[in-house]
Amino acid sequence: MTKYVLPDLQYDYGALEPEISGRVMELHHDKHHRAYVEGANKAMEQLFDARSRDDFAQIGSLERALAFNVSGHVLHSIFWQNLTPDSSGRPSGPLSAALDRDFTSFELFKQQMIKTASTIMGSGWAALVYDPLTRGLGTIQIHDHQSEVTQAGIPLLVIDAWEHAYYLQYQNEKAKFFEALWSLWNWQDVEARYEMVQRLDLGLPGTVERAGAASPEVPVTH
Ligand code: MN
Repeated sequence: MTKYVLPDLQYDYGALEPEISGRVMELHHDKHHRAYVEGANKAMEQLFDARSRDDFAQIGSLERALAFNVSGHVLHSIFWQNLTPDSSGRPSGPLSAALDRDFTSFELFKQQMIKTASTIMGSGWAALVYDPLTRGLGTIQIHDHQSEVTQAGIPLLVIDAWEHAYYLQYQNEKAKFFEALWSLWNWQDVEARYEMVQRLDLGLPGTVERAGAASPEVPVTH
């Protein structure tokens, strides 16, 4: 059976200090993320077991557990790659042009992401997503790990807004954590993700009418 695994970080736990303490990174990666990986594998095993017994009485709760844990695994894996101790500070190239096109400016995009993260009720994430239908960028507010997602949206850049991501260091001042992340973003990673996802085609003709006029064309690299 395929297994989910906890990926190694590409930097040391303390590499993102002072914005994110080594202790927070260690707990977050080695305890919290690991728990989602284990939860995802457990849900997969229980589904396998249920199928082998032809007993689907618990299918609803198993599917919920699988969605929660796999989504947690995916979002944390993206989050670690979105961060770097050597941030360039700003995106460049086609991603930068697309952010200007879809959010008016980088500054407004930044404000929208921070507001999206800071207005989550309870636990969740803010995400910059690429929508293959519109071929455009947008933000979504994810509750827990999996609710309120748009099915076509592919996350490129994510902000973990769960308390475990900041509380030990920032306490109730979560806005300071969301702001601090902007000196840690790995824009090369986000740019590479943007380039990859533009190859996606959902094969759903006739589902969107693209407003052409005002938007400058962004060079597509595929
Ligand atoms: Mn987390």
